[in-house]
Amino acid sequence: MHLGSSRTVASFSYERRDAHKGYTDRFLDMDLSRPSISVKTVPLQIKKIFVGGRGYDLWLLWNAVDAGTQWDDPQNAICIASGPMGGTPAYPGSGKSIVTAISPLTGSVIDSNVGGYFGPYLKFSGFDALRISGKCASDTIVFIDGISRKVDIIEMSGLPDDAYALSSELTDHFCQGKPMDISVVSAGPGAANTRMGCLNFSWYDSARGRVRYKQAGRGGIGTVFADKRIRAVVARWEKVSVKSNNPADLDAVKNVARCHAQEIVALDPKQNEMARIGTTHLVPIMNDFDLLPTKNFQFGSHPAAFLIGREAFEKLFDPGFDGCWKGCTVACAHGVKDFVPFTGAYRGQRVFVDGPEYETIAGCGSNLGIFDPYTILEMNFYCDAYGLDTISVGTALAFVMECFERGLITTDHTGGLDLSFGNRLNALELVHQMASGSGFGAIVGQGVRRMKGIFAKTFGADASLLNDIGMESKGLEFSEYMTKESLAQQGGYGLALKGPQHDEAWLIFLDMVHNFMPTFEQKAEALHWFPMFRTWFGLCGLCKLPWNDIVPEDNKDTPEPAKVMKHVQWYADYYTAVTGNPASPETLITMSERVYNFQRLFNLKMGFGTREHDSLPYRAMGPVTVEEYESRQQRYDDQLTGTHQVDIIGKDTAWKVAVLREKREAQYELLKDAVYKRRGWTSDGIPTVATVKRLGIDFPDVMTLLAAHGVK
Ligand code: SF4
Repeated sequence: MHLGSSRTVASFSYERRDAHKGYTDRFLDMDLSRPSISVKTVPLQIKKIFVGGRGYDLWLLWNAVDAGTQWDDPQNAICIASGPMGGTPAYPGSGKSIVTAISPLTGSVIDSNVGGYFGPYLKFSGFDALRISGKCASDTIVFIDGISRKVDIIEMSGLPDDAYALSSELTDHFCQGKPMDISVVSAGPGAANTRMGCLNFSWYDSARGRVRYKQAGRGGIGTVFADKRIRAVVARWEKVSVKSNNPADLDAVKNVARCHAQEIVALDPKQNEMARIGTTHLVPIMNDFDLLPTKNFQFGSHPAAFLIGREAFEKLFDPGFDGCWKGCTVACAHGVKDFVPFTGAYRGQRVFVDGPEYETIAGCGSNLGIFDPYTILEMNFYCDAYGLDTISVGTALAFVMECFERGLITTDHTGGLDLSFGNRLNALELVHQMASGSGFGAIVGQGVRRMKGIFAKTFGADASLLNDIGMESKGLEFSEYMTKESLAQQGGYGLALKGPQHDEAWLIFLDMVHNFMPTFEQKAEALHWFPMFRTWFGLCGLCKLPWNDIVPEDNKDTPEPAKVMKHVQWYADYYTAVTGNPASPETLITMSERVYNFQRLFNLKMGFGTREHDSLPYRAMGPVTVEEYESRQQRYDDQLTGTHQVDIIGKDTAWKVAVLREKREAQYELLKDAVYKRRGWTSDGIPTVATVKRLGIDFPDVMTLLAAHGVK
């Protein structure tokens, strides 16, 4: 044990309440500024409306902040919750934690869904949710010990900087000889020095004898954590079984869990092989369909993509069981052992890399013009160690690389770094600079939205070009799929509550490949059902991958194969069996609608959440440059002459780029109209009074907010 001195500044003993039908009905509330620790009851009405997980987080956060709260104000709160099914070891994907806070990137509410053991251990320690507000004066550890029924706030010195060493040492320190009993949530130095800090959620991999990690990546929640000077939140709990949630119908839980778990075991080897290669199978698929972001989302494929796809990583991944929660038969959380970094503090040492997943490969690989799996592994490793979101890092680096290649920035601005696409050493150097807040990395760490302002105002770069190629919306960097050729997915990103993350909707194949939704109304219907159903996983403490990444063999013959209705029914049965509340596929959607609309209203409360905030950079909608247009010339020419009835004879490419842009931007506005109508929102994108009343979220402060925006 290498930790320095420690001082307990607050300590709280409590009577633990066991979970009953998936709930403890209590949450743990902490204010670090005082410091104070208290246990509070979740009111029954709140339980009915918000369900759990992300719903509980949003309710807790809403009550912690006001309209003027900034991300670094003490009252900003980090909220972490599991959900009623969270912590069930038998059902695949039932160990998720959902985290929310006001984001340093967007200024509004951000949510992130993450694996690891923390959420279940928190619940079994007696709490459905945790809210931490306030700030500490020095480095602090929060220790929630469900076994001893005690919560401590501890000032601690001598803590390691990076998340790997920190989580490992804290596991040793608190485990009392049983490392499986510990889950650590930690950030890292990159979280403190950028706006895109992630949180690492740990679990102990007993087969490998090491601490493993999953990341709550999006929106800079790690930065909020670091700003509060929390170095880690540690939960301690012991045995978990299918009885731990004390479900309403234990046999029914076991039955539905067995069905889903066995189907995955039988079909995953014939479908995506996620238990062997994780999400790396997506690389060749995206490349084949022109959807793999390449060189800052300019292009969707590259001849060298095979070098960073499944063929590469099936050789690199360490074989073994890789579930990020007990009993998840998808077991997709792979890693690489004995990797030897060639830069940074770990240069020349053997390390274990948790990952990479598809998004990291695309963001830190193809989108930077880098087709070397070892560079991707090194970026993955250091981003985790520094507490940086690999998606925001990848998209921010892709942006500066394109700016460099187009002469919008030069070596005068980058501190001498040649940031041409494919320059892997300088890309890594930027990651190290971001983590330490030094050099040009200090600017990149501010994110794409702020870089656009700095490059235009300070460096004199062309503001309109920066806006077209800077891949952010609502202030959040795009996740790693191309949307240019799918209007529905443009809505999936542009209308997403927290910004362009595909966890709300992934409609590219349905729309672009299968043309299942040719009308605006059909697209709007999809942009209603899919975001609602995907939201539901976050309410319940679940992972969405088991829903539709491995599907029943006869799924393609069902009326709506994209919805995988057999699994939706299983989820309704699972919810019913745990909570005792009868549910159907339709009621799952209504549960989500309440929380989804409440989050939209939360954005409104924070000064966002209207039509203007659902805008996209043009690169997400179509070709910005002549080169991009000509890379898909036949397709675009056909659209202009066919769909849009435009005479292009004798016209040059620049003219065609401009006309196509006019058409596509108009289509996106029409899509917004259709989606707002379907969701029961005004033409400015605000839920109507009738909608909030129908959903039962017409709280007095919601009605005041709507009245202030003239909504009746
Ligand atoms: S499917 Fe993968 S990410 Fe989801 S819970 Fe299982 S191992 Fe974790």
